[in-house]
Amino acid sequence: MKIILLGIQGSGKSTQGILLSEKLGVPYLSTGHIFRDLAKEKTHLGRQIKLVMNAGLLISDQKTLKIVSDYLARPEYQAGYIIDGFPRTLNQVENFKNGIDLAVYLKISDKEALWRISGREEVREDETLLAIRKRIDSFHKFTDPVIEHYRQKGTLIEIDGEQSIEEIYKQILKALGKE
Ligand code: AMP
Repeated sequence: MKIILLGIQGSGKSTQGILLSEKLGVPYLSTGHIFRDLAKEKTHLGRQIKLVMNAGLLISDQKTLKIVSDYLARPEYQAGYIIDGFPRTLNQVENFKNGIDLAVYLKISDKEALWRISGREEVREDETLLAIRKRIDSFHKFTDPVIEHYRQKGTLIEIDGEQSIEEIYKQILKALGKE
């Protein structure tokens, strides 16, 4: 089963991704985690990624597609995967060759996203208020069309992300027929 999780930062994608990964027995992959790891490296690529992330901007489609397809070529991803944070642009959708069975959109309001992220106990380096706002803007600019794309294709399930973790999980499993 190949699933992607879409939603603004703070919508609970990684929480649900980890739960689903355990339940369905397929690995969980987060492009945000991958980029945060790369940003710690003292290489040219690491420094470039860090700058872009801390400004709240998106990594280029070319770099993102290359990194994701390199990961997905590994044997452990052959039976399926749950991807959190990709694809984020229509260009990424169009050039993603591995395909997906279902897109799960965890919908929360911008206000709720701001509230959740700025209220986190551990504030990450890429979570300044300016960067968070920028990220919310770029979600609407670049990722709203991705959501619309999957909606048109009939492969989107949309879930109210402002409910409890348990309720959201239950609704995703129901939509997958895995209750
Ligand atoms: P996330 O943890 O998913 O919010 O991702 C953190 C940051 O990583 C984003 O703000 C982007 O800078 C970068 N990133 C993650 N996924 C992607 C993607 N699919 N395309 C471009 N940039 C990404």
